[in-house]
Amino acid sequence: MATPAPYRASEERYANLPSFYNRCGRSGILLPKISLGFWHNFGDDAPFERSRAITRHAFDNGITHFDFANNYGVPFGSAERTFGRLMDEDFRPYRDELFISTKAGYDMWPGVYGEWGSRKYLMASLDQSLSRMHLDYVDLFYSHRFDPNTPVEETLQALVDIVRQGKALYVGISNWPLEPLRRAVPYLREHDVPLLIYQGKLNLLNREPIETGILDFCREQGIGFIAYSPLAQGLLTDRYLDGIPSDSRMAKEHFLRSERRTPELLDYLRQLQDEAQTSGRTIAQQALRWVLEQAGVTSVLVGASSVQQLTDNLHAVI
Ligand code: NDP
Repeated sequence: MATPAPYRASEERYANLPSFYNRCGRSGILLPKISLGFWHNFGDDAPFERSRAITRHAFDNGITHFDFANNYGVPFGSAERTFGRLMDEDFRPYRDELFISTKAGYDMWPGVYGEWGSRKYLMASLDQSLSRMHLDYVDLFYSHRFDPNTPVEETLQALVDIVRQGKALYVGISNWPLEPLRRAVPYLREHDVPLLIYQGKLNLLNREPIETGILDFCREQGIGFIAYSPLAQGLLTDRYLDGIPSDSRMAKEHFLRSERRTPELLDYLRQLQDEAQTSGRTIAQQALRWVLEQAGVTSVLVGASSVQQLTDNLHAVI
C-alpha cells in the first residue's frame, strides 16, 4: 500500500451523535458504542498502512475510544509504538477528541518487576506506554488483572497516584473477580478517583460477567462496562463458516485454536446467521447488538484486521 495523503479527519465523523455514544456509568464521559481495540493487527507483525487505514476509518466514523495494553502487538509494545507513529503523522491535531486507554498487569519485561500489580510495575509500565505512544497522558489507565499476592491497597493507591501525577485522567479495572472489585470501588471513591469502567470478556459464547454478577454490580455502582472480544475473537462472524482462512487469527493457532471450531459451533453460527439474515444483518452485527443490549454495557471493544470488517461492525449500530 502506498503512503496515503496527509490525514484530515472526516467532517462527518460526528454525524451520528448522540445515538452512537453511551454515558460511561455515572461520569462525565461518553464512549462510542463501538470502540477499537489494538491487541491484534497493529503490531510490527501487521502492515503499517493497513493499521493506519483501520485507525483512520474508525475515527472518521466517530470511534473516539482506542484501547491498548503495554503488551499488545508482536513484539510486546509494538501496537503502542504503531500508535505513537500515528499520533505524530495523523492524530496529533485530534488529541482532545480521543479517549485513549492502556493497561498493565500481564507479563511485560523480564525479572520480578515486569508483571502483576505492584506500584513499581504499574508506574514504570505506564511511563513506558506514554513514551511508546508519544503521549503526555492517557485518558484511562487500567489494572489489567487482579494480583492475589500484592495487597489490593498497593495496586489501588498506585492507580490513585497515577491520576494525581497527571499521567492518567481516569482509572479502570479489567478481569478482576467480583470480591476484590467490591473492595476497590469504595477505596478509589474515598480517594477521589472513582472507578470509571470495568473491562471484561462478554459475548454470546461467554456470559461470565452476567453469571458472576459483575455486570449488575457495575451498573448499581455507576461504573461503566466495556466488553472485550465481543465477537469471541472472530468466532462469532462468518469468518470460519467454510474453513479456516490462512490470514485469520485461528490460522495462527495461538490465541484462537482450531479446536474451537466444533460442529456444535458451526450449527450455532448457521442458526445465528438465519436469525441475522431475517433482519438484514450479518452474524457479527447480530453478536455485537446482543452485547450492547445487555443492561449496563457502555461499549463493545472490537478488533478488526481490515477496514471492511470495521465497517461491518459499525453497521451493527449505525
Ligand atoms: P473481537 O472479538 O472483536 O475479535 C476480533 C477479530 O474478529 C478480528 O481480528 C477479526 O479476525 C475478526 N473480525 C472482526 N470483525 C469481523 C467481521 N465483521 N467479520 C469477520 N471477522 C471479523 O475482539 P478481540 O478479541 O480482537 O478483542 C478486542 C479488543 O478487546 C482488543 O483489541 C483489546 O483492546 C481488548 N481485549 C482486552 C482484554 C483484556 O484482558 N482486558 C483481552 C482481550 C482483548 P481476523 O484477525 O482473523 O480477521
